[in-house]
Amino acid sequence: MPVRHCPNPDCPYRAKHGRPAEYRAGIATCSDCGAELADGKGSFDADDLRSAKPLEDICNSSSTNVKDLGKADGELIVLLNAPGAISLPVIQLVAGLGVLVISFYYINQRHFVAVIPALIGFGLFFIGFNRIKHSDRRARRVRLYQRGFAYHIGEKIIAVLFTDIEMVSLSDRQLRHRGVPIGVFHDLLLACRGQVYTLTSFESHAGLYPRETSRFVLWAKKVVEGVMGTEEV
Ligand SMILES: [Zn+2]
Repeated sequence: MPVRHCPNPDCPYRAKHGRPAEYRAGIATCSDCGAELADGKGSFDADDLRSAKPLEDICNSSSTNVKDLGKADGELIVLLNAPGAISLPVIQLVAGLGVLVISFYYINQRHFVAVIPALIGFGLFFIGFNRIKHSDRRARRVRLYQRGFAYHIGEKIIAVLFTDIEMVSLSDRQLRHRGVPIGVFHDLLLACRGQVYTLTSFESHAGLYPRETSRFVLWAKKVVEGVMGTEEV
């Protein structure tokens, strides 16, 4: 199994094959360009992608604190989910509100039988409201710092140091519905202590939140730069 790779971005092997040249342990320099080798595989393979876990799982093995990351560099960026997650609670909320308004109109007209639909309307409204509140508790946000980044999931915060990341890559995949592309997932892959983690934001082609997603892509590129930058020191 290859355990070292050529980190040179201008290596002729990388230009030809699209991934860094890999070597066995004990070899010191790249046979293609002569650069000094770095530890690790240097790129993600299919097995890494299959075994990748969501980044929230990293907290079980990480003891890094946000204070260790240095100064904050920019504001919190919201990660977006693929469509479908929020629509039902919103429908319940709106339907509940509608039933309530109509019922109160009839109660006002002294049709007291409308108390029953009013209660149903209130129930619907309450269920929808609670679900939206709950989904907000699972809201995912990221913020860049001098020496790493923080990942917020609701109230929980996970701090990740650039020096703890062994490998990083940013890629896209299309989401199609009945063959029609409806959006793009932006996946940030991070290797950390032998495990691969993913952080994903969804960009809808409907143009609902294009600005927020381009902020995520910009942020992810800075993470890649941060990890590459510390590697060379
Ligand atoms: Zn090389």
